[in-house]
Amino acid sequence: MSTDCIFCKIANGEIPSEKIFEDEEIIAFNDINPAAPKHMLIVPKEHIPTLNDLQERHVPLIGKMFATAKDLAKKTGISESGYRTIINCNGDSGQEVFHIHLHVLGGARLGRMG
Ligand code: AMP
Ligand code: ZN
Repeated sequence: MSTDCIFCKIANGEIPSEKIFEDEEIIAFNDINPAAPKHMLIVPKEHIPTLNDLQERHVPLIGKMFATAKDLAKKTGISESGYRTIINCNGDSGQEVFHIHLHVLGGARLGRMG
């Protein structure tokens, strides 16, 4: 938990979100500023700032985030039409929230970089 982190605050319920899924390790919610008709964020509850901070012990967690993306794509009806998963890392990617998250975008034909 990082006290200044917006996604830690969403994970512990301090800030509301449009929650889609939650278990002991992960929370998923709709992006507040969607870049596609469906735009979900899959967020580990552990505060990991960037992909660069990933440790060996996080490998199963990252796998679970992608498995959750697959499940939520199905649940929201974009499995067959298609979707994109993105994890931004640091400045050139445009990362704004320094708590790792997996974007899931779909519901329309996406531009080349989504
Ligand atoms: P990134 O640029 O990869 O760090 O993406 C951060 C994403 O978090 C952006 O798409 C924002 O729209 C989204 N976001 C920021 N604050 C919130 C919030 N309170 N609830 C939901 N999504 C948020
Ligand atoms: Zn955090």
